[in-house]
Amino acid sequence: MKRIYLDYAATTPARPEVVTAMTPYFTEASGNPSSIYSYAQEARGAVEEARTRVAQLIGARSEEIIFTSGGTESDNHALKGVAYANEDKGGHIITTSIEHHAVMQVCKFLERRGINITWLPVDKYGLVDPEDVRKALTDKTVLISVMHANNQVGTVEPVEEIGKIAREAGVYFHTDAVQTVGHIPVNVDKLNVDLLAISAHKLYGPKGVGALYVRKGTRLVPFIHGGEQEKRRRAGTENVPGIVGFGKAMELARQEMDEEAERLTHLRDKLIRGLMEKIDDIRLNGHPTRRLPNNVNISVDFVEGESMLLNLDLEGICASTGSACSSASLEPSHVLLALGIPPEQAHGSLRLTLGRGNNEADIERVLEVLPGIVAKLRAMSPLSRPRTQE
Ligand code: PLP
Repeated sequence: MKRIYLDYAATTPARPEVVTAMTPYFTEASGNPSSIYSYAQEARGAVEEARTRVAQLIGARSEEIIFTSGGTESDNHALKGVAYANEDKGGHIITTSIEHHAVMQVCKFLERRGINITWLPVDKYGLVDPEDVRKALTDKTVLISVMHANNQVGTVEPVEEIGKIAREAGVYFHTDAVQTVGHIPVNVDKLNVDLLAISAHKLYGPKGVGALYVRKGTRLVPFIHGGEQEKRRRAGTENVPGIVGFGKAMELARQEMDEEAERLTHLRDKLIRGLMEKIDDIRLNGHPTRRLPNNVNISVDFVEGESMLLNLDLEGICASTGSACSSASLEPSHVLLALGIPPEQAHGSLRLTLGRGNNEADIERVLEVLPGIVAKLRAMSPLSRPRTQE
C-alpha cells in the first residue's frame, strides 16, 4: 500500500539535495568552525554561506541571523531574551490565545515570574484584530508576539499591520514564522518585525536546527551562555551539517516557493471542496482565503478525531488532529477552542497538510476513503443523531 503523507505541518522530509549538501560536514569537512587552521575554516565558511542564504530569503542582513536548535528555541530566546533585557522598562507582553506551545508556554512561564501577559482573543476564523493589539498597549509593554500563520488552522495573521502599531509605539515585535518561511513570502522589513523564528524541518531541511532573526539594535539577553559562538548570543559548537542543510533548504525554497504554493493551493481547494460535497455535517476551520496554501482543517460532527486518524492510518494515510506537540494530550486543541468551536466539535477535528510529495491522485484517494470512514464511525457512534430521523 502506498503511504500518503498529509502531515507536512508537523514535519517535512529533508530533500535529497539537502542531505547531499550536509554529508561532507559529518566527515571530510568536520572541523570545528571556531578552530583557526584552514581545515576548520571550511566549516566556518559553510556556516556563513548558510547564514547568507537564510538572511536572503527573509530580506535580512546575515549578521541579524542567530542559528538555533529550531523553532522552539528561537521562540524561547526571543521572548525570554527581550523580557530579561528590558526588565527596567517593565513587564508586559502582548500575545494571542492561538500561539504554538513554544510561545504560549514561555509566556505562562514568564507570567508565573511576575510578567504581565495580555492574551488577545481571535475571531471565528482565528484572526487577531490589530486594533486589539493597539488597545492592549501600556507604558510597560516590552514585546508583542503574534504568530505569522497558525500551525493548526492555517490562518495567516495581519502581521504587517500589527508590526506598524508596534513600530509606532516603540515596542519590540516578534513573530513565530515557523509555518510560513519557505512557503509564502516573508520579509522582515515589510512585516515590521524585530524578531522572527524559523525552523528548518518545516521547509524540507533537517530537524534540530533553526534560526532567530534579530533586528540590529534589539536588546536581547543571550539564551545559552558559554563560548563565543554566534557573536556570544548563542553559545555552543555549531551544528554545521544541520546549518548547511538548512541553508540549502532555504535556497531551494527561494527558487521554488511561488510555484509550489500555487500547486498546493489548487490541491488544497480541491480537497476542501470534495470533503464538503461528500461528507455532511462538517465545517472548515480557519479562514477561507487568508490561509496557508497547504492547510486543510475540518471538524466532523459525531466522530472523534483520533478514530478518524487510526482508520486513515489503516489506509496508509498520515494526518493529524491538531499540532504534533499536543497529540499526546486528550484536551481539545486550545486553538480550536479560541476560535469558539465547541469542545465536542473540536474533538472531531482533522488536519490534513499537503506538501511536495502530494499530487492529484493523493487527494482523490482521501476523497475516496474518508467519507466511508466517517460513515462507519458515525454508525457506531453514540454521539451520532439517528440518521433515520433526518
Ligand atoms: N512554532 C510553530 C508555529 C510550529 O508549528 C512549531 C512546530 O510544530 C514550532 C514553533 C516548534 O518548532 P521546532 O519543532 O523546530 O522546535
